Amino acid sequence: MKSLIDKLEFNRILSKEEFTFLLSNFNEETSEYLFEKAIKTAKTYFGNSIYTRGLIEFTNYCKNDCYYCGIRRSNPDIERYHLSKEDILSCCSNGYSLGFRTYVLQGGEDMSYSDEDIAEIVSAIKREFPDCAVTLSIGERSYESYERYFKAGADRYLLRHETANPQHYGLLHPKVQTALNRQQCLKDLKKIGYQVGTGFMVGSPYQTRSDIAEDLLFIKDLAPEMIGIGPFIPHHATPFANFPQGSLNLTLFLIGLLRLMIPNSLIPATTALGTIDPNGREKGILAGANVVMPNLSPVKVRKKYSLYDNKICTGEEAAECRLCLQNRMKNIGYNLAVDRGDFVPLEKIN
Ligand code: SAM
Repeated sequence: MKSLIDKLEFNRILSKEEFTFLLSNFNEETSEYLFEKAIKTAKTYFGNSIYTRGLIEFTNYCKNDCYYCGIRRSNPDIERYHLSKEDILSCCSNGYSLGFRTYVLQGGEDMSYSDEDIAEIVSAIKREFPDCAVTLSIGERSYESYERYFKAGADRYLLRHETANPQHYGLLHPKVQTALNRQQCLKDLKKIGYQVGTGFMVGSPYQTRSDIAEDLLFIKDLAPEMIGIGPFIPHHATPFANFPQGSLNLTLFLIGLLRLMIPNSLIPATTALGTIDPNGREKGILAGANVVMPNLSPVKVRKKYSLYDNKICTGEEAAECRLCLQNRMKNIGYNLAVDRGDFVPLEKIN
């Protein structure tokens, strides 16, 4: 197993069989061996700095019906909300004074915002905060829509592929949603010039180790600038309410593998990781992640953006997520950077 990790570090890729073998047989010793290399790799590119992204969850309306997600269209038990442009700008302004230089606008696929609305929100943020990056995470759109947001100033786009295996994708989504379309969206985003993020849930229902190996190969092939993975966590009002949550150790192991596979990629220690373990985000950094995404949404809407049960940072006490994370990172020897935290291609580093 250690020689496979050495091989991954050297070649930046393994075969599907080798990944499947590692994922099926890793243990504490293998993980420690991997994390040491992953931390060293992350430090080569980012030192002790952790990039931050201010997450603004601006709508929980969604036209989709993903079986795992708490804000799916068919969940009648949540109070829906969406933020106005002014609300969003006020989150950004609060974030700017706290030291954020990237805003991530994430939401369900809420068609009440037209392309023009989204473009106007993006350009208003760029006008007011020209030194900040804007990331969109609003799901599957047409090439023309993505192009329009890009021209308005959007820099980055997060769209997890969820699972690279089309059969598995079909078990997680209704028929109208396809792996093919999601993957096409990722190609479109790359072509347009966005810094692109993809990823998947670890331990989603019916996922096999071989599916995860396919996810790793898909990611290597796409070469995204950002890679977000987090454990699947059940939500009580979804068809997957009774499935077990994803494993902490497997998620951490995967972060380590991803760091060796694409060494300069931007990998967050996600909120989902912090939800399944009180020190999950610190553990994510110590497995090779280099980004955290504190919540910047108005406190009054945070509980309503419930993708899964028991999500952290939704109460009044968590109003200043950045300060909390700053302390958490300091405790493990890292500091939060006040920086856009753009992706830097390897050829520009070496
Ligand atoms: N609508 C956009 C999209 O489809 O990309 C962005 C919002 S969507 C809710 C963001 C991500 O949340 C999804 O890509 C999915 O991986 C994650 N997610 C949804 N439900 C989850 C759950 N029950 N456990 C963990 N992650 C979940």
